[in-house]
Amino acid sequence: ALVAGDLKVKDDQFVTMSGREVELRIFVEPQNIDKTDYAMDALKRSMKWDEEVYGREYDLDIFMIVAVDDFNMGAMENKGLNIFNSSCVLANPQTATDAAYQRIEAIVAHEYFHNWSGNRVTCRDWFQLSLKEGFTVFRDAQFSADMNSETVKRIEDATMMRTVQFAEDAGPMAHPVQPDSFIEISNFYTVTIYEKGAEVVGMIHKLLGKEGFRKGSDLYFERHDGQAVTINEFVSAMEDANNVSLAQFKRWYKQAGTPSVFVSSAYDTDKKQYALTFKQQGVDTPEAKATEKQPYLIPFELGLLDADGQDIELNTTDDSVKIQDGVLQLTESEQTLVFENIDVEPVPSLLRDFSAPVKLQYDYSRDQLLFLMQHDNDGFNRWDAGQTLALDVILEVMQAQQKGKTPSVDGRLIEAYRALLNSTGVDHAMLAKMLMLPGVSYIAETQPVIDIAVIDAARTLVRSALANALNAEMYALYQSLNVRQDYQPEPEQMASRSLKNAALSYLLSSDVDYAQLAVQQFTDSDNMTDTMAALAALVNSNHQPEAEKALEAFYQQWKEEPLVVNQWLAVQAGSTEFGQVERITELLEHEAFDIKNPNKVRSVLGAFAGQSLVNFHRPDGAGYRLLAENIIKLDALNPQIAARLVAPLSKWKRYVAAQGEMMKAELQSIMAQDDLSRDVYEIVSKSLA
Ligand code: ASP
Ligand code: ZN
Repeated sequence: ALVAGDLKVKDDQFVTMSGREVELRIFVEPQNIDKTDYAMDALKRSMKWDEEVYGREYDLDIFMIVAVDDFNMGAMENKGLNIFNSSCVLANPQTATDAAYQRIEAIVAHEYFHNWSGNRVTCRDWFQLSLKEGFTVFRDAQFSADMNSETVKRIEDATMMRTVQFAEDAGPMAHPVQPDSFIEISNFYTVTIYEKGAEVVGMIHKLLGKEGFRKGSDLYFERHDGQAVTINEFVSAMEDANNVSLAQFKRWYKQAGTPSVFVSSAYDTDKKQYALTFKQQGVDTPEAKATEKQPYLIPFELGLLDADGQDIELNTTDDSVKIQDGVLQLTESEQTLVFENIDVEPVPSLLRDFSAPVKLQYDYSRDQLLFLMQHDNDGFNRWDAGQTLALDVILEVMQAQQKGKTPSVDGRLIEAYRALLNSTGVDHAMLAKMLMLPGVSYIAETQPVIDIAVIDAARTLVRSALANALNAEMYALYQSLNVRQDYQPEPEQMASRSLKNAALSYLLSSDVDYAQLAVQQFTDSDNMTDTMAALAALVNSNHQPEAEKALEAFYQQWKEEPLVVNQWLAVQAGSTEFGQVERITELLEHEAFDIKNPNKVRSVLGAFAGQSLVNFHRPDGAGYRLLAENIIKLDALNPQIAARLVAPLSKWKRYVAAQGEMMKAELQSIMAQDDLSRDVYEIVSKSLA
């Protein structure tokens, strides 16, 4: 790689585990030299972590990063000279939010880790893209989990899977982690190749355990250093180092679509036996019918809770299912496992830690979910029980609304949230996650036919009910966390800010007027996290005048800082209140917008179609039209980015007919254009097939 420009450099050193000194350099445009400290720190931590956790030492005597403003992806791992989108490397407390800091930490690590998983050992061909991307995303996730909260990281990754990746898996672009064909490889830098690929590696880690996995990765790097290999070599190294067969497991690489696992239970009081039956089911995808799909080897982590919420020892004389450290190995389309010596019917805690990327179906009662929320030993499942409960309540409201009945919000959900707010000793980051209702796109994925307006109305109603009932608790929590401190991008502070700002956004959704509280935070804040959270709370509430004023002040203050202006664009474009089609059209014409810059396109069109869902799915189709027109415009300028924007339209078959037909019509109008790029052609034609 070669980069030329008028750049300033920040330098530092790293001494490797064998004592070699490595020069580290980050090149940026002169005005950004004050935004390089955190990336440098993250780089040094990544280098050390890869030595400790994977035994991987850096091999050259110099490592460089260069930040560029116009870049389609997050970054690229060119050997010795990583090229970064400036949004994934530049940060200081005044300009970057905590979320941006965490993204920088993850991407700096990701690109650095590619030096071994990607460069020293690379891909034989493009069909093996997940060999390096899935494995490297898994590695960066482990790193982020070690640097921050492991459970919160798992929650974030599972959420990404269940929304974006499950949606891709249920749409026309569904493809296996190891695809068989493509028209344009740029279209295959997908959440399936990256995130599902990482989940597949994570399942191998679950099956082999930490030490077994390390033996496998050591063998892989040792055997294939300097080679270009396939996914098969990766799996073989894992098998050979551990003396196991992963033959059935490899189906995860070849079959597309998200399998469901249906679980049912039966308790026999006399025999003191508890039986769990698991049925797995594949789905139709473009490459194969559900009936052609073979059962997967699924690592299914579980626990059984007694009446006090303690884990019962998993006793079974049944050897039909292999079970180790709470992880069952499901291998059949249907199988039953019987546990012995169970005195009282337990509550099952299923798919702990999201141990496999599947849709879990079990008929939990609301009381069981409340119990798990409080007692489950597995942090991920405590959170997930809360999500399932909230989802159930939202769906009940939705059904009532559709039938024209007056909906009521189950008081048990409100009391569960109140208990959370009154609890002491719960990790702040975890609490912030537990207070968040499942998002519209998550709810959408659980529906056979998607109607965004209906989902959004029900979710909003439940959210206001919580905000009103818990006003006093939310206010007390906000006040207790609203303390002045010297900003540090470190986990504990970030966690407190996320909890405080979650409380603020609830307060602004209540019927009491808390606009001044947000305005105060907006004015007083000395860091972008709190500034942006206050702005977002205003923009997403019905305090239009205060929001307008804050938006204007923000723009005047930051108009010379492109990365900050991009956040300003995104907070409007992604909001329900401000992201209407007319406003998006204005933003596209604003002096701050430039269609040639990928980050700006993502900030406006990406945020609009991805987050401002009620506006994007407006009943008259104006949202679809706006997106399609801009896809056509962009296709001549940047086909890769244009193609990415097709995704929200491509899933038209999943929506209620009236909406779906309008989405389809826009796809047809794109298809009718002359000189369509291969990128856009591939996605549009597959969507219309
Ligand atoms: N390989 C890069 C990454 O995932 C993306 C790219 O190809 O630009 O880190
Ligand atoms: Zn990568």
